[in-house]
Amino acid sequence: MKTIGILGGMSSQSTIPYYRLINEGVNCILGGHHAPEMLIYSVNFHYIETFLRQGQWDDAAAYLSEKAVKLEKAGADFLLLATNTMHRVAPQIEQAVSIPLIHIVDVTAEAILKQGIKTVGILGTKPTMEAEFYTARFRDKFGITPVIPSPEERQRVHTIIFDELCRDVVTDASRQEYLAIMRNLMASGAEGIILGCTEIGMLISQQDFPDAPLFDTTILHAQKAVNLCVEREPLPK
Ligand code: GLU
Repeated sequence: MKTIGILGGMSSQSTIPYYRLINEGVNCILGGHHAPEMLIYSVNFHYIETFLRQGQWDDAAAYLSEKAVKLEKAGADFLLLATNTMHRVAPQIEQAVSIPLIHIVDVTAEAILKQGIKTVGILGTKPTMEAEFYTARFRDKFGITPVIPSPEERQRVHTIIFDELCRDVVTDASRQEYLAIMRNLMASGAEGIILGCTEIGMLISQQDFPDAPLFDTTILHAQKAVNLCVEREPLPK
């Protein structure tokens, strides 16, 4: 089995399902008491939230690259960056290590294309919905057209992530707000919706939205880690 390295704690609320899903997935395949060997570097989310709010992407890159190097030295065979937003600095992290970083967009795009879908709504933090590092990768690398919420809706989606979900606050009022925004994305042409923030699965699941397929990035990323760990799929070069 390959050893999994996770850059986590962004936030701690979403690293919990990563840990659980990867353990369950590997055990489901191998049975008995088998479990994946996994290293988690859980960072101080205060720094990440500050870097994001102040647009200090070079600082975020330096902070996360240093942790990635430590995971590689500790024996990780590949890395997961357990947040969509921080993939903004994925290129710098990739440069700092010689093991593969399993990009969350690539994993999500693969699932979307398998469903034969080409236009998808995106929910996530403001940088994820607005900056090119995320939407352009779907468009240019995979031919998937992203649809994003209105500016006011983006602000609400972002605020609920940081003020509520990252603090383990889950309310029905926020769920209803998200569902209304998701219906608007569908009205704008989306055929499915990416839960493009690793905490959104705390609030919304497929049962809440039978209208269209949901692509929960936490679940998809964890499933990919399981397949790579048990060598059902080869590591990317
Ligand atoms: N977990 C979030 C994401 O997937 C947001 C927190 C962060 O900024 O890392 O984007």
